[in-house]
Amino acid sequence: MPKPTGLHLSSLFDDCYSVRTKVPQFKLLIDGKWTDSSSRRTMDIDTPINDSVVARVASATPKDVDMAIVAANNARRSMREIPAIDRIDILNRARHIIEAHKDDFVNTLVLEAGKPLNMAKGEVNASLNRIKMTMQEAKSIFGEYIPGDWSEDTMAKFALVIHEPLGVIVCITPFNYPLFSVIAKVVPALVSGSTVVVKPASDDPIVALLLGRVLQEAGIPHGAVNVITGPGGKVGDALVNHEYVGMITLTGSTEVGKHVANLVGMKKMHLELGGKGAGIVASDADLPLAAKKVLEGCLKYSGQRCDAISRVFVEESVAEPFLQLLAKELDKWSLGDPRDSSYNMGPLINPKAAERVQFLVDDAVTRGAVLIRGGKHTKSYFEPTVLDAVPTGARIATEETFGPVVTIVRVKNLNEAIELTNTSRYGLDSCVFTNNFYTAWRVAKALEEGTVSINDAPAHGTGYFPFGGNKDSGLGREGVGYSIDEMTRIKTIQFNLAPAGLGKTRQTPKM
Ligand code: NAP
Repeated sequence: MPKPTGLHLSSLFDDCYSVRTKVPQFKLLIDGKWTDSSSRRTMDIDTPINDSVVARVASATPKDVDMAIVAANNARRSMREIPAIDRIDILNRARHIIEAHKDDFVNTLVLEAGKPLNMAKGEVNASLNRIKMTMQEAKSIFGEYIPGDWSEDTMAKFALVIHEPLGVIVCITPFNYPLFSVIAKVVPALVSGSTVVVKPASDDPIVALLLGRVLQEAGIPHGAVNVITGPGGKVGDALVNHEYVGMITLTGSTEVGKHVANLVGMKKMHLELGGKGAGIVASDADLPLAAKKVLEGCLKYSGQRCDAISRVFVEESVAEPFLQLLAKELDKWSLGDPRDSSYNMGPLINPKAAERVQFLVDDAVTRGAVLIRGGKHTKSYFEPTVLDAVPTGARIATEETFGPVVTIVRVKNLNEAIELTNTSRYGLDSCVFTNNFYTAWRVAKALEEGTVSINDAPAHGTGYFPFGGNKDSGLGREGVGYSIDEMTRIKTIQFNLAPAGLGKTRQTPKM
């Protein structure tokens, strides 16, 4: 008997939706009010658990976008006038409210994103930690004092370099971490005194709306946080083109990132885009550790992670024992209903995503790859899959997989692994397994990635270390303090002391 799916939220969230049909119909958050789209149009939110409609959200129009940005622009002043210590208090209250409504967030993540229960709990915990760490880091955005007497022309001057808010920050987020990726943008933006318009992914936008409600309850000024739902093309273009926007921070695919980059002109931009992470297994690696970690890297959240390992380069001499260990480890991975914590893998975000992964797997097999395990899907559920001897011409060798596929390529030596990794247009996140420090150092230095992990699969948890990509994987870095830096602009204030006779003059050196 299939379990029923339904969204049940506590009364805190009553204002966010109405129940006109059988399912809740969520509104937009604009200028502190919950409102329908000006076109009255809605979009269905399906759960990948069984493809049933669990909610509807407002489909915003360019007019709604304009209202949200104008509201955010008007709220800049009130936001700047709140003392930093009080902004921190608001965020602290928000953290406690999320904590008190953890089940609402976890259950919504499981339902709308199909995220396995334990991972959904992990995402909420990481989000809470991220808020806490960002609040601590906020204390480091003081700026600096630069004495001028290190240069002839500024001998009688000094400068104060201060960080200022960027104004209205547009935060566009992907489907795979629908809570964490919103928090990683919104919290540093608010801490540093900016206001935001959030545009969550259309597959799973509800947790972002819940977060909007939490921030409202915590006391954020009207208009400082706006949440707009609707199709990326229409809503996104209107958002990023708007004259009042000071910065766009977008996490999503490289294709959307490049499209946005072409539109934004002189606005500040932060892009966290796609990846094609490599897992490199050296002949001297701890093979059981490598097999376990490689599978984690490939299969966690069914591979729907920008930092997923999506190519495994293993030195030929250890390929056979490595594959045997991998096969044993694979038995620990099971695919099923994400609400049931006995499964550690759930569905992909929608059936279309599963069809795309199916296409990549079939293409690889047609071109000569050997299918060792899995390889099929039912609706959104894709089996954990292992492909060996994947040729470089297969599309899965170069395109982002975003599915639970372990793609094995046997290499003669580590130089070949480095070369193949670096031929990718992406440069986000890779890892190397070796027990030799010098090998680890050599490979890490040679890879053109934003992050290289040694003896571990890429994992970023609360984002304590800086994170971001090179090449087609993005621009800028996210991270506890780094995000605040990215989200402020620097102003230099120069003081001339000469009129008061306080400046230094250069002494003629005694010979
Ligand atoms: P996506 O399709 O690129 O969508 C990302 C966001 O952009 C969504 O909110 C989407 O809205 C919006 N969007 C679409 N068209 C737009 C436009 N013309 N203007 C402005 N916004 C637009 O990505 P996704 O499928 O949700 O997420 C998966 C991708 O994100 C993968 O490529 C993954 O690697 C990447 N990602 C990167 C990182 C990182 O840190 N580097 C982290 C997580 C994910 P709609 O949903 O309405 O289309």
